[in-house]
Amino acid sequence: MPGVSDKRPLVIAGPCSAESEEQVMTTARQLNEEGIKIFRAGIWKPRTRPNAFEGVGSIGLPWLKKVKEHFGMYTATEVANVKHVYEALKFGVDILWIGARTSANPFAVQEIADTLKGMDIPVLVKNPVNPDIELWIGALERLNNSGIKKLAAIHRGFSVHQTCQFRNDPQWQIPIELRRRIPNLPILVDPSHICGSSELLYEVSQRAMDLDFHGLIIETHCTPEKAWSDAKQQITPAGLKVLLEKLILRHSDVDRQQSKKLEEFRSRIDKCDDELLNILEQRMQVSEEIGEFKKENEITILQTERWDTIVKKRTGMGLKKGLSEEFVSTVFAAIHQESIDHQNKVMNE
Ligand code: PEP
Ligand code: MN
Repeated sequence: MPGVSDKRPLVIAGPCSAESEEQVMTTARQLNEEGIKIFRAGIWKPRTRPNAFEGVGSIGLPWLKKVKEHFGMYTATEVANVKHVYEALKFGVDILWIGARTSANPFAVQEIADTLKGMDIPVLVKNPVNPDIELWIGALERLNNSGIKKLAAIHRGFSVHQTCQFRNDPQWQIPIELRRRIPNLPILVDPSHICGSSELLYEVSQRAMDLDFHGLIIETHCTPEKAWSDAKQQITPAGLKVLLEKLILRHSDVDRQQSKKLEEFRSRIDKCDDELLNILEQRMQVSEEIGEFKKENEITILQTERWDTIVKKRTGMGLKKGLSEEFVSTVFAAIHQESIDHQNKVMNE
């Protein structure tokens, strides 16, 4: 990846959308003054509803070229189809990214991968809008199979039906699992699209650093309040500078004494996990006994009122123990599903 050095975080910044030559050049100049090396700007914008601003299109590409020429920055833009790829390459765009709506579409990703076959260009793959790690890995594989060697992933959160404080729920366990599955793949975090508003950006960026992700892609605009897309989540280059300076970069390597202490903590965690699993095993045994009983007495597995009481009681108890309602209800939904499966197994034996 150009601009990649050992220094974390790798930062990509620039507006959600390229709007005019002036907006692009002003934002890039200010970012360049702050030492940012990679400039992002959406030329084609996938919008949820028609008639929203769908990007300036190819007329914006010479502006990106100008950013390269004037400031020596690398440029990055989103491509969603073959035409976008050809146009972006024609204007010397250095880095391409595949947006969240596109990486959810294997046909589109395959077409882009075929077009890029054997080319030496970095490609960043955003997670698909839905929380499906296999789909994300699948998109990365399609590009990898086309010989794209400079690959990285962007975690931009997931669209979920429940309301949460974020525009796109981070579900950190998914990018963490991606790193476990593909350890050498750089993963950047996109706090802008996770947050949906500028207030939470610092917190999410700090979290990304504490989870040891490689970099950040942050939407930055010379006049955010006037932005034609994603106005609420964009910050000024000066705001970006403040955010980056405030970040605390903790290191992931530990000395011998720290490592001994960590081992102690980890063995306590292992013990807790052992106990948790034993308790779950016991709980499932009880479920199977209930299953036997219901089978003999021809009672249905699911009694909705009982389930409703469990959820309410457990989330209440959890809150008293400092566990969030969301966490407790997710855990109990999974436990409940497993119990039903165990009962079901017994009833159909
Ligand atoms: C973007 O980066 O401007 C964008 C459209 O992002 P996403 O694909 O993550 O929604
Ligand atoms: Mn955007």
